[in-house]
Amino acid sequence: MLINRFYMLLLLFVSQYVFAGSQILVIENPPPPIDLTLVNRLWEYAKKEMGAPNNIAPPKITLDWNVPKYARMGTQFPTIEIPDMPIQISIAPRTIDSEDRLIVIWGLGHEITHYLFALQENGWDLTLKVFSIKRRHHCDPEFKRITRGMAQELWNVYHSDDIRGKMFEEVIRSCANFPQQ
Ligand SMILES: [Zn+2]
Repeated sequence: MLINRFYMLLLLFVSQYVFAGSQILVIENPPPPIDLTLVNRLWEYAKKEMGAPNNIAPPKITLDWNVPKYARMGTQFPTIEIPDMPIQISIAPRTIDSEDRLIVIWGLGHEITHYLFALQENGWDLTLKVFSIKRRHHCDPEFKRITRGMAQELWNVYHSDDIRGKMFEEVIRSCANFPQQ
């Protein structure tokens, strides 16, 4: 958390420095303080574990103020029911403000696993106009194994038993609370 605050302060400092001499009003949209190196590590891990084609495109990740209150983030695909849905991972800005940064990264890993499961079910074909998503993910032993493995990947970097414990709990809770997803 301390490092997180420091990073945000640093961002603020840099932006003030850059615009110190500017006479125009600027509204900035700095990227959220998420360590994308770690997210990419989880992406590579999940691809390998699932035997995904190596050149498969990663999901677009976007800040989304319309994520329902009960959710922190979610993965979207166009389906028969909602054909206009873009393929993306939406993350609620409040999630970044309120959750531990490693939990946010692991959460993105969870969504990346949804993304890969959905693609696997659809022949890894990202050109499809609608996707068939019938398989339930949260209680699938393979989904649990990969998302637990992601917690371990992050532990290998930060060695936080506490945070890893929380991630393991989330694996159990996802299945218990949202078995239909
Ligand atoms: Zn999920």
